[in-house]
Amino acid sequence: MVKSTRIALLSVVVAVLSVLGFVAPSQAAPPGRVDPRPSTEELARELQELQWRSRGAIRVDAIGESNQGRPVWSARVGDGPLRILYVTQQHGDEPLGTPAALEFLRDVGVDRSDYQRWLRSQVTVDIVVRANPDGHEQNWRYNYAPDADPEYGEAGKGYDINRYHDPAVAPEDNPATEAGLIQRHYAEFQPQIVVDYHMQGRYVDGSGREITASLLWPTTPGVEADDIELAKQISVVAQRSMTEGGANVSQYPGGDYQGIARNAYGLRGSGSVLIELSDMGAEHEQAQIDSALRSMLAIAHSAADGSLAAVDPAEADAIPPRGTPLPQAAASGAHAD
Ligand SMILES: [Zn+2]
Repeated sequence: MVKSTRIALLSVVVAVLSVLGFVAPSQAAPPGRVDPRPSTEELARELQELQWRSRGAIRVDAIGESNQGRPVWSARVGDGPLRILYVTQQHGDEPLGTPAALEFLRDVGVDRSDYQRWLRSQVTVDIVVRANPDGHEQNWRYNYAPDADPEYGEAGKGYDINRYHDPAVAPEDNPATEAGLIQRHYAEFQPQIVVDYHMQGRYVDGSGREITASLLWPTTPGVEADDIELAKQISVVAQRSMTEGGANVSQYPGGDYQGIARNAYGLRGSGSVLIELSDMGAEHEQAQIDSALRSMLAIAHSAADGSLAAVDPAEADAIPPRGTPLPQAAASGAHAD
């Protein structure tokens, strides 16, 4: 009894303080911790719940099945003319884009404020949530194809999905199943903007401060100048929004191969960006999820209100390069793209 009375009193105190403006629960850290690695079952359950709670604003569909028969989910919110595709977790052991996607869907799809309604009327955001469910279950980078001898990937494990988006390869000829699903989904959705969420190792900038995220636009030859410009504008919006949340963002030293999603969807005419969250350990995971969420919200908002088009793409070139690995992280090996 005493305990419950104390809790009740505490609630009253918090409520009074809230009214007085001393505590702002809605702006504080989200109540409860976001699960950084929802299981396959939990992810499906959360997506179904979001769809149900959104009363039609969120549509969840499987775009196909992984090699081991797990659904690869698309969740789509809004019905506006600007189409944005986010992809998370192509690499199974780079998880944090996935919980950020769930929070994005909750923020944009479940609320019925004037703002959310306006945003949903301007943009359609489709998210391939955890593109590589088998890799997630194995806790490895690749898909699950242990009998394959992949050009990109690892024999005994599977394909590196993010090397199999080459526009010259048709989805039906794609040896990396989940990459073929994304190619098909892209062709059906025709997004103007594509942002692919990954994770990298730990690095510092030139002054020794830790880099929390890196990003990059297409670097393969043949991408139209307009599409590179748009990708740079998206990069600037992402960098600004993450920096406002305390992030330290650099350019990512990515490769030119056209099978990488960042390059492939640039070649196909989208503003295509890679975002890499640094793998900073458990104590930073909630902040990293929040950072990814900020970028997702800011990109959608800036596309919706037209401010994206006013961004000077040259600002992207001014984002500093990524520095050296943190000493304790240098030995652990790095993720790539
Ligand atoms: Zn990756």
